[in-house]
Amino acid sequence: MTNNLSYIKSSLITDAVCFLCRKAACILPEDVYIGINELYSKETSETARGFLEEILVNAEIAAETQRPICQDTGITVVFIEIGQNVFIEGEDLESAVNNGVAKAYQQFFLRKSVVENPIFNRKNTQTNTPAVIHTQIVHGNSVKITVLPKGSGSENMSAVKMLKPSDGIDEIVNFVLETVKNAGANSCPPLHVGIGIGGTMEYAALLSKKALLNKIMPLSELKKAAKTDEKKELELRIFLEIQKTKIGAEGFGGNSTAFAVNIETYPCHIAGLPIAVNLNCHAARHAEIIIDENTIIPDKLQTKFEISKYRNKIDYSKYKKLTLPLENKDIIDLKAGDRVLLTGEIYTARDAAHKKLIEALKSNKELPFELKNQIIYYTGPCPAMADEIIGPAGPTTALRMDKYTPQLLDLGLKGMIGKGGRGYEVLESIKKNKAIYFVATGGAGCLISQKIKSADIIAYPELGPEAIYKLVVEDFPVIASIDSEGNTVFVNP
Ligand code: SF4
Repeated sequence: MTNNLSYIKSSLITDAVCFLCRKAACILPEDVYIGINELYSKETSETARGFLEEILVNAEIAAETQRPICQDTGITVVFIEIGQNVFIEGEDLESAVNNGVAKAYQQFFLRKSVVENPIFNRKNTQTNTPAVIHTQIVHGNSVKITVLPKGSGSENMSAVKMLKPSDGIDEIVNFVLETVKNAGANSCPPLHVGIGIGGTMEYAALLSKKALLNKIMPLSELKKAAKTDEKKELELRIFLEIQKTKIGAEGFGGNSTAFAVNIETYPCHIAGLPIAVNLNCHAARHAEIIIDENTIIPDKLQTKFEISKYRNKIDYSKYKKLTLPLENKDIIDLKAGDRVLLTGEIYTARDAAHKKLIEALKSNKELPFELKNQIIYYTGPCPAMADEIIGPAGPTTALRMDKYTPQLLDLGLKGMIGKGGRGYEVLESIKKNKAIYFVATGGAGCLISQKIKSADIIAYPELGPEAIYKLVVEDFPVIASIDSEGNTVFVNP
């Protein structure tokens, strides 16, 4: 018997993972770009077209500057298919992968978002490791590695349900729609909706994540495929139903709630019908490579889509310019839906910083900045590279700050900038305090960071990306999303 083993060094796997982490963070897959572009060309709502344009421009800036599309460079999900004739020399596979993740996040200034212990200390591991690794043994002498960085805005809104066989296709469709509606604007639509059906509870969830790796078909191709393929027919049906929700790009209405739906299936028990829905935002990032013992990892990232298609085309002429701090009159005059360019000082704070602010208030300690008349921007930027003021710095999901917001508004905070809707209590508190909630384009981290003219950490540096920064912004584009009378523009607030 001949020895046809392939020997692949673990260091090659580390380098491949490092390359893929950077590529996935910075280069939107071409099919995703084309899918969003297709929505843009058909969108009739002016507001939604504005968001889609920002999303496309942002992807182009990211590709050109080779900086992350979105500041949330995610938890790193790695799929590995290992040929059964491959022998890995050196470190064990898990260490090789994690070393690649840690190297990329450090070397390329990606945001490290993984905490050590999910329940207790929630301390940042500072390496973005461990990755979530799924391995599969397949035929052959090569290794296929796919990296999918997953932000929490969309992951948090994903769901699993154990349907009964008698529930059938209608309940499958209902569950997907319910999940998409429940996510509303929080998952940064337009979405890629991954659906896993069959297997067991945990396997359906894995299938739904794998479905996000499918190539995205233009609608005309999907319609054609649906005529002869029942899975494609169901994908088409769900896709069209999702567009009918009118949640729209960033939750502001229109016809662009999703750019793709993909289903993966597996046999299951006679008594079961597990289903999982994994939502991915418009920053639907993933990258893959197949390596063997002779592979040389590229040192440059390449973009397939045409850069500069939309660059410099965003028209801000209909935006109202406002200087910070906002006067009470400015706030009262703003109506939900008004587009605004803000100039002046704002402060950043997200989950961990809010917790610390509230703890400081409880123990009568001084806050790191005066809340009165200020605006808090919910963001956790990527670290700045040498020539940058700040790394990509788009908004994070505002809903997570709802628990703290009414107390801060009662103490004089005048506004917040985030993404997605707010709960009833926050809405009532905004009304009571004559405040304002703005939305910035979720996932447009590169574009937004260009509007930030200075950034200084003023508190909690130990929180890394969650530290409080004082920012000076210039013509920072936002939409008034809950006005001082409690009116909101969200289709599904
Ligand atoms: S685009 Fe939105 S949901 Fe996606 S990673 Fe960025 S902030 Fe999170």
